[in-house]
Amino acid sequence: MVFPIAHIHYNDEIDGNGKVIVPEEVQDAIRTLIRWSGDDPSREGLLDTPARVGRAWREYCAGYAEDPSAHLSRTFQEVGGYHELVLLKDIPFQSHCEHHMAPIIGKASIAYMPTDRVVGISKLARVLHGFAQRLQVQERLTAEVANCIWEHLKPEGVAVVIEAQHGCMTGRGVKVHGVGMVTSKLIGCFLDDQSSRKEVMSLMGY
Ligand SMILES: [Zn+2]
Repeated sequence: MVFPIAHIHYNDEIDGNGKVIVPEEVQDAIRTLIRWSGDDPSREGLLDTPARVGRAWREYCAGYAEDPSAHLSRTFQEVGGYHELVLLKDIPFQSHCEHHMAPIIGKASIAYMPTDRVVGISKLARVLHGFAQRLQVQERLTAEVANCIWEHLKPEGVAVVIEAQHGCMTGRGVKVHGVGMVTSKLIGCFLDDQSSRKEVMSLMGY
């Protein structure tokens, strides 16, 4: 069986209860992982786990089935003379690191300086989630969100700052807790103009 890769819309079969049918091959892989972890996939508490895990990963990675830039296609030109930055602050998100498939949990602040077009503010969060719901590294997630807004809204500047904790650090390896990793991507006026950069970073709380 060939499974879909990035940017192909999922075309899952749905069972009578409205749940996605998880192919046997996927469930077998999860049983193998349970066995490798040291447990018995045939014990009662784990019987339905492979299907649940399969469906959960369909949700965690729902971003592969969408084009995040589509959220920016509907813009409003009438901005009433408003020519100041637009900021959506502390948007919570969850992603998964591509190295361990462990959760990345954090918040993002997204700002842009409009030229003549703005989008509904919730769309910025949708762009974030479209990229977050994939296997990621935080640096790329930050850049992808910023570049998407830059290319599709054509604003004067974009600033994206992401602060997140990585399950692969808190739950394994060095096991450090409460340590957040901060990444930022600044483009246009936020990169070139020092006062714009200072303004956006202080509004974001940095
Ligand atoms: Zn990791």
